[in-house]
Amino acid sequence: MATHGSIFEDMLQEFDGAARILNLEPGIWKILTHPKRQIIVSCPVQMDNGEIEVFTGYRVQYNITLGPAKGGIRYHPGVSLDEVTALAAWMTWKCAVAHIPFGGGKGGVICDPTKMSRRELEALTRRYIAEIIDAIGPEKDVPAPDVNTNEQVMAWVMDTYSMHVGHTTTSVVTGKPLELGGSLGRREATGRGVMIVARESARHAGFDINGATVGIQGFGNVGSVSADLLRAAGARVVAVTDWKGGVYNASGLDIPKLIEHVSRNRTVEGFMDGEPFTNDQLFKLDVDVLIPAALENQITSENAAGVRAKIVVEAANGPTTPEAHRLLHERGVFVVPDILANSAGVTTSYFEWVQDRYGYFWTEKEVNERLEAKICQAFDAVLRTSLKYKVDMRTAAYIVAIERVATVTRMRGMYA
Ligand code: NAD
Repeated sequence: MATHGSIFEDMLQEFDGAARILNLEPGIWKILTHPKRQIIVSCPVQMDNGEIEVFTGYRVQYNITLGPAKGGIRYHPGVSLDEVTALAAWMTWKCAVAHIPFGGGKGGVICDPTKMSRRELEALTRRYIAEIIDAIGPEKDVPAPDVNTNEQVMAWVMDTYSMHVGHTTTSVVTGKPLELGGSLGRREATGRGVMIVARESARHAGFDINGATVGIQGFGNVGSVSADLLRAAGARVVAVTDWKGGVYNASGLDIPKLIEHVSRNRTVEGFMDGEPFTNDQLFKLDVDVLIPAALENQITSENAAGVRAKIVVEAANGPTTPEAHRLLHERGVFVVPDILANSAGVTTSYFEWVQDRYGYFWTEKEVNERLEAKICQAFDAVLRTSLKYKVDMRTAAYIVAIERVATVTRMRGMYA
């Protein structure tokens, strides 16, 4: 979401708008705008060529009032303390909106995993986790995958922690392989949540998702699952774009076939049952629902005026700049903010943690039913708040989140 210097400043802008409407008292305001813990570690790793590299890693626990910190670990050359802190803050608000008993955290290591071998990545992961070991744990801080980290990395996190404490502790991390205590339904969860909020938004806007038209940017995990579940709900997904190109078919793309095409070609480009299409065309397309499910800063002040969709569902994190969001809101476009729209991912991570702690695992149907209930409750709470305060859905989501964290902060009182 970086539109200028600091991403954390962007987060604060969104926070301040909602806190003002809530008349939040100055003391709580100060507490909620400061990270609780920021840990910086140096991780020496012997590389395959025999040389030693030292990687800088961060773990930020932004707020743990509602429960253990929850948030992914990112491996990227551009990781910074400012970015990790902002992402940890957003996790705090996302968990609060989702109404799950977690605070917000995030981790990151400055590295380029595309240039590292599997052995080097494993060594880095184990050393990073060893460096932050006292700060994490099932009741303290529960990491998960993020950019460039996956199930395998989570398996190493789980193993490293378990070796240190001397017994297997599956609930220290989520996003694990099923065999290691992962949850059924986790892979599809975020896309499923996107489908649910799109369906509920359409109902609120006075039309049925069955028969509605949809355009999607990004056809990775979130975009492709959203497309498939929306198709199953009767929607017509007419356009999809990705990093390389796009496809359009006015009568609706054949999503299962498109998924097959992408698994072979790594892009939707070249799909035979549609015409070539671009991101620019997608954002101007006359569809009922537009779903940015790729990157941040895609709907900007430059293209927002051209958006003709009735509903924008922010499946990606931060796909709409603040200025673009204002323009969309003024024109009556219903924007479902990221902290609500993609919160099904962390909600199912919470389900994974619960199952690990119980040692008792749910069927996929049970996971999906519980997810449906949680997302509908979160959507209703934000919609009711938006109607009550006459504000857009993003501000409403922040109001819901801030109210929840502030209420518990007041009840717990000040420890000093
Ligand atoms: P992914 O890597 O599986 O897919 C990303 C997709 O975006 C790919 O189809 C890629 O081709 C496309 N893309 C990349 N650059 C593009 C460009 N310039 N123009 C158009 N498309 C482009 O990632 P994902 O897991 O599907 O995540 C997508 C977004 O959703 C990210 O913002 C992520 O942070 C967010 N998110 C994901 C989850 C989750 O559970 N996976 C949870 C919450 C939020």
